[in-house]
Amino acid sequence: MNAIELPAETEVVIVGAGPTGLALAVTLATTGVDFVIVDRLAEGANTSRAAVVHARTLEVLGELGAAAALIARGLRVDRFAISDGSRRLLTIPFDDLPTPYPYTLMVPQCETESVLLARLRALGHDVHRPFEVAAVAQDDAGVTLTMSTGQIMRAGYAVGADGMHSAVRRESGIGFTGSAYPESFVLADVTMDWTPGRDEVSLTLGTAGLTVVAPLPGGHYRIVATVDDAPETPDLEFVRRLLEERAPGQATVHGLAWSSRFRVHHRIADHYRAGRLLLAGDAAHVHSPAGGQGMNTGIQDGYALGSAFATGRLDDYEGRRRPVAQRVVAFTDRMTRVATTRSGVVRGARNIALTLLGHLPPVRTRFATEIAELN
Ligand SMILES: Cc1cc2nc3c(=O)[nH]c(=O)nc-3n(C[C@H](O)[C@H](O)[C@H](O)COP(=O)(O)OP(=O)(O)OC[C@H]3O[C@@H](n4cnc5c(N)ncnc54)[C@H](O)[C@@H]3O)c2cc1C
Repeated sequence: MNAIELPAETEVVIVGAGPTGLALAVTLATTGVDFVIVDRLAEGANTSRAAVVHARTLEVLGELGAAAALIARGLRVDRFAISDGSRRLLTIPFDDLPTPYPYTLMVPQCETESVLLARLRALGHDVHRPFEVAAVAQDDAGVTLTMSTGQIMRAGYAVGADGMHSAVRRESGIGFTGSAYPESFVLADVTMDWTPGRDEVSLTLGTAGLTVVAPLPGGHYRIVATVDDAPETPDLEFVRRLLEERAPGQATVHGLAWSSRFRVHHRIADHYRAGRLLLAGDAAHVHSPAGGQGMNTGIQDGYALGSAFATGRLDDYEGRRRPVAQRVVAFTDRMTRVATTRSGVVRGARNIALTLLGHLPPVRTRFATEIAELN
C-alpha cells in the first residue's frame, strides 16, 4: 500500500495497526463495515513485547478466524504458580476453565500481529503505510483527518488505536488519568535451566519486587521483573543476579537474547468516546505488564468496538469495556502491593492464606478465570 492509494473517504478510520487496530480491522472486515486502517510505521514492529495470550483473547481470535494459526506458532502452558522465593505457595491449573482454550498461549507479540495481518489480507484488506495522523477534527457530519504528508481523509468515525501517546486521544480532549509506577520494569528473554520447567508461568513474590518467568517458543524464557533501580539495557550478569536473589537455586541462565527496561504507567482514559472519536487498547488504558493483560485487553477492545459498529450500538462500548480496564488496573495494583510487602506479619499471613486458598478448588477456579479474562 502507498500514499496514492489512500481513499478520500470511508466510514471508519482506524489510526494504528498494532494488535488493537488489527483486531478491530479484522472484525470490521468480517462484518462488512467500510473502513481504512493507517499506521505511521513503514512496516509492523518485529519485537517480542507482550508474550502472553489468554483464553478469552483466543476465543475472540477464534471468532475472527485467527486462533488456529496463532496456536500453531505458540506454546501452550497449563498452569500458573505463585512462590515466595523458592517456596511454592499455590498452583493454579487452567485445564478446568470453561473455554475451548483451557491454557495460556505464550507467543511473541510480532507473531500475533502477523497472524492478524494475514487474516486481514485474506479478507481482502491491508494496512495503509506509512501514514501519520497529524490532526483530527470532528463536526456534525463526520471527522477530518490530516496526515503529516498533508493528505486529508474524511470519515464518519475515527478510532484511536494509536497507543499510549495517542494523537486521537489528545485531539479529542479526553483526559488520561493515573500516574507512573515508582519502580521500573525489566524484561528479558533468556535461555536457561529453570527448575519449575516449561509447563507453567511462575510468579515469584519478594520484598525486592515481583518476578514473572514464562516459557517462550524456541526454548527461551521471558522474565518480567519490577526493579527499583535497573540499568537501561540489563545484561546477562544482571539477570543472573536477579534470579539468584529472587528465586535462589532455581535458575542457571546461559544466554540473553533481548532485554529492556521501561517505566510503566497505570492510566485510564476518562471516556472511551467523544462524539465521533473513539479509543481502544493502549490509547485507552495502560497498566503493569506483570499480569500480561495489556495486549489482551486491547484485542478484546478492538473486537468489542468492531461488533458495536456492526450492530449500531456504539453507545454501549464504553460501558462494556472501560470497567474491564479498571478491573485490570485494580487487580495488577493489588497483586503488586501484596506481592512486594515488606511487613513480615503481612507476608506471613499472605503466605498462609495463599497456601490454604490453594486447597479450595472454587478459589483456584476464580483465580484462573480472572487471569484468563473469562469473567
Ligand atoms: C518493550 C515492551 C514490552 C512489553 N511487554 C508486555 C508484556 O509482557 N505484556 C503485556 O501485556 N504488554 C506488554 N507490552 C505492552 C503491549 O505491547 C501493548 O499493550 C500493546 O502493544 C498495545 O497494543 P495497541 O495496538 O493498543 O498499541 P500499540 O501496539 O502501541 O500500537 C499502536 C500503533 O499505532 C501507530 N501510531 C501511533 N501514533 C500514530 C499516528 N499518529 N498515526 C498513525 N499511526 C500511529 C504505531 O506505529 C503503532 O503501530 C509491552 C510493551 C513494550 C514496548
